[in-house]
Amino acid sequence: MATINDNYRKLPGSYLFAEIGRRVEAYKKAHPEADIIRLGIGDVTQPLPAVCIEAMHKAVDEMAHKETFHGYGPEQGYPFLTQAILKNNYESKGIHFGLDEIFVSDGSKSDTGNIQELFGPHDTVAITDPVYPVYLDTNVMAGRTGELQKDGHFEGVTYLPCNAENGFAPSLPDHRVDMLYLCCPNNPTGTTLSREELTKWVHYAKENDTVILFDAAYAAYISEPDVPTTIYEIPGAKDVAIEFRSFSKTAGFTGTRCGYTIIPKGVTGRAADGSRVPYNQLWMRRHTTKFNGTAYIVQRGAAAIYTPEGQKQVKELVGYYMENARIIREGLKAAGLKAYGGVNAPYIWLKTPNNMPSWDFFDKLLQDVHIVGTPGAGFGPCGEGYFRLTSFGDREDTKRAVERFQNLKF
Ligand code: PLP
Repeated sequence: MATINDNYRKLPGSYLFAEIGRRVEAYKKAHPEADIIRLGIGDVTQPLPAVCIEAMHKAVDEMAHKETFHGYGPEQGYPFLTQAILKNNYESKGIHFGLDEIFVSDGSKSDTGNIQELFGPHDTVAITDPVYPVYLDTNVMAGRTGELQKDGHFEGVTYLPCNAENGFAPSLPDHRVDMLYLCCPNNPTGTTLSREELTKWVHYAKENDTVILFDAAYAAYISEPDVPTTIYEIPGAKDVAIEFRSFSKTAGFTGTRCGYTIIPKGVTGRAADGSRVPYNQLWMRRHTTKFNGTAYIVQRGAAAIYTPEGQKQVKELVGYYMENARIIREGLKAAGLKAYGGVNAPYIWLKTPNNMPSWDFFDKLLQDVHIVGTPGAGFGPCGEGYFRLTSFGDREDTKRAVERFQNLKF
């Protein structure tokens, strides 16, 4: 008889956004007249930059002719895209990688979820709390954790709390771990790590032979000069860190799908025979075995953001969402709520009034002012008592939502 991977059964059944959807649907059914504004799910609302559309139209036309048709491409990505990424995002900062150290993919969710396959089954894992749930869930599926405890923690995982008390800058673990996930700017808190903070993490990784899995999906939103846009700005990071990036929030590719991962050849792990093996080599093997490349048309669209006109359009797009973030931040403050993030990230993380549990606050917002957000508890035990709003909405909806916050009684 076939058996199942029992690790999957350790995962709690109800997915965060499914539960939100269920509650919103139930409310709408009971109150069909309610004008509900969604500031919850992290999807973008504005169209792709015009340069991407033009490039993709052109690429579609190429597919119509035998001479310019493209079939399977290189699994690691076309050099026209990988070269443009390296030149614009890294070489411009004096950071150099070979073309065999970058891997184009269909997005960061897959890459941040799949990377754990390269590590030993008993390697230990640390995550910040709260954080994007993919890191933890994929390690649960792989059997690197015990059971889910009553307090919301998985046995065997090192959680690094991030809260208002520590300024959302987690402390280093008090023991060594093998793999360490950092998300910067962080989803859901919208907060970042300064150069000094990040340097501490790179030192920890070097001293402890730890690999940092650095998710920089929101790097394009960083505006403060003291916040590195890539971990490789920190000396030594090329020996200990793998970095993930995405076109989703940078250029509206959530539905178009494109991302990439940098795996420097200096990042190695110990093999059973005691030798050191580059993770790059393993990822290359994995990528070429399990992935057949991102669509040519999509890669052409992604590469277009690195033209001068593309850079201008992406800046405008990010600026649009960051203006929404400012409106939300200031509106919450005016309503007497404490809010964090929203300066280097499209997420605003608010403290629920009177320590209200985050799902109760969700219900209150929905019922009293018809706004949908995301309960902090859905991102980890330390998210309890907090609530996430996103600036990915439409400007008018964002303004209307903020006005409604002024009417909230708590
Ligand atoms: N990483 C973080 C921190 C995210 O918040 C998200 C999406 O919300 C992703 C990765 C996934 O991005 P992609 O659309 O490239 O799969």
